[in-house]
Amino acid sequence: MRIARFSHQDVIRYGIVDGREIVELVGDPMYAGYETTGERIPLADITLLAPVIPRSKIVCVGKNYHDHAAEMGGEAPVEPLLFLKPNTAVIGPNDAIVRPTQSERTDFEGELAVVIGKIAKNVPVERALDYVFGYTIGNDVTARDLQKSDGQWSRAKGFDTFCPLGPAIETEFDAASARLTTRLNGEVKQEAPLSDMIHSVADIIAYASAAFTLLPGDVLLTGTPAGVGPFQAGDEIEVEITGLGILRSTARNA
Ligand code: MG
Repeated sequence: MRIARFSHQDVIRYGIVDGREIVELVGDPMYAGYETTGERIPLADITLLAPVIPRSKIVCVGKNYHDHAAEMGGEAPVEPLLFLKPNTAVIGPNDAIVRPTQSERTDFEGELAVVIGKIAKNVPVERALDYVFGYTIGNDVTARDLQKSDGQWSRAKGFDTFCPLGPAIETEFDAASARLTTRLNGEVKQEAPLSDMIHSVADIIAYASAAFTLLPGDVLLTGTPAGVGPFQAGDEIEVEITGLGILRSTARNA
């Protein structure tokens, strides 16, 4: 099932994508189930929004692909390297990433995003996937120069607009057989199977939930493969994952 959050005639709702239409839901399916209003709206008539606004946080994993760790000039850490992005960084499909005046170099990082569906604390790895609501695509936008000069990553990865999410949440998804591709103005920059991840989705949920209570609507970003690079105002960035669609973003300067 493919769940989208959208606006139509200035009203924000959730719906289930069904072919070229969306079946409107009464409430947020994460809390209210799948009761429909009976309305079907053509996809052409709606504006897709970020499919989730994280309830409390976005938990991210750094260096979760060996080839990306190598391009950053090191080896991948043995345990998942966690950091947080604020929920205020989230934007939706087709929204503009704003390059901040404080940075000379702002990079894209295409990533698989996992949406948590149930309160998770100290979850064992064998049961970790029971806590997943669904999957979408994320871009862990990073002010690369500030990441280096600050010495830690909060500001460099936490600017407003630095977490595009979407286009929708897929509840049925097999990460093991999917591929991630990132294109900059149509040119392929990142290309990898998600099976190249060092720590699996289940591993990350178990590890993160041993530190932070994960709430329904929290999002995990699972790391990026090799090929990260800068973008400029006017560029178009597309992150595609097999089975999840394409997350398209534009870019502008602040
Ligand atoms: Mg990243």
